[in-house]
Amino acid sequence: MLRHTLPIGRIMGIPIDVDFSWFLVFGLLTWILAVSYYPQSLKGAPSAELWLMGVVTAILFFFSILLHELAHSAAALHYKIPVHRITLFIFGGVSQIAQDPSSATAEFVVTIVGPLASFALAGVFFLLQAPLSGVAPALAVVKYLTMINGMLGLFNLIPGFPLDGGRIFRAVVWGWIGDFRRATLIAANVGRFFGFFFIMTGVWMALRGFLFNGLWTAFIGWFLESAAGSQVQQQLVQNLLVGHKVSEAIGNEAPRVAAETSLQTIVDQEILRHGRRSFLVQDNGQILGLLTLHSIKAVPPSDWPTTTTQEAMIPLAQLSTTSPEAELWTALEKMGRNGINQMPVLNGSEFVGMLSRDDVVHYLQLLQQLQTR
Ligand SMILES: [Zn+2]
Repeated sequence: MLRHTLPIGRIMGIPIDVDFSWFLVFGLLTWILAVSYYPQSLKGAPSAELWLMGVVTAILFFFSILLHELAHSAAALHYKIPVHRITLFIFGGVSQIAQDPSSATAEFVVTIVGPLASFALAGVFFLLQAPLSGVAPALAVVKYLTMINGMLGLFNLIPGFPLDGGRIFRAVVWGWIGDFRRATLIAANVGRFFGFFFIMTGVWMALRGFLFNGLWTAFIGWFLESAAGSQVQQQLVQNLLVGHKVSEAIGNEAPRVAAETSLQTIVDQEILRHGRRSFLVQDNGQILGLLTLHSIKAVPPSDWPTTTTQEAMIPLAQLSTTSPEAELWTALEKMGRNGINQMPVLNGSEFVGMLSRDDVVHYLQLLQQLQTR
């Protein structure tokens, strides 16, 4: 997979990445501050000083966002919810907190500490204003950081999923109605509403002549609407699949081939003639592993006649697997997370069949058709 992020270190054991889009924001913010914002508050200041102020502000803003995310992560770790990584990107940051939260209270606390950290930062920068009142450039910088952290806290409190406010809203609804899935759907739909509201407000502002702010507002609205929209879609799929087991969706089994067959034979007789793309490698009825087009291509064609399927396959032990009793939704999520299209289904160590994304999609279509009748 292509990486768009730059690792910058670890805090509390959590890897911190910077998405490349962040450098764009960093440059844009520095530039706007240096040529437009600070010249208004510090008339006549030399441009080198203005640019230095812009850079310092952008760096401190970066640390402000990092602190906001670290607050989420620290609270998650307190509730024993693992945090995979923190990525700082164009709209701020995302903490990749594993899985769905365990309780409404945990979700509420883990989420609200982010905006609270932003407000606390705004408070700290506000308190710095008095001692720095004699140093005009430093005063302007802390004034800006007071305002921007306050705005960051407020923006994140907008009750639209996936913003912090949407999560807080979901936690409250969840605690109230006691149904996590329905609460997610409600919060995501409220998020879509706020997205549309921002788009309309942005268009209205643009028509009234505030072109830049209007377009920016509409852009944020579009981002909110699409994020919440995909959340709604995902939740609808999840609602359909909930309670259904992997065993119900297992599809046609991939053809079995013997462990000692050469790759050349497989290519000639199975792939080119029948268009098959993946095979189960077996020996004495025992499934040993999975042979895919990908694993065949990893072997140079000149070695195909002398390489056996067993040598080229991915051994069962190295594959992500699922069990017949596992939730179908969980299995689908696992395939998505690991970037794979199929998984062997094992009952203990006994091979039951293969589950592919296509199988799940087929099953989903059947469920959908039955539901609309
Ligand atoms: Zn947050």
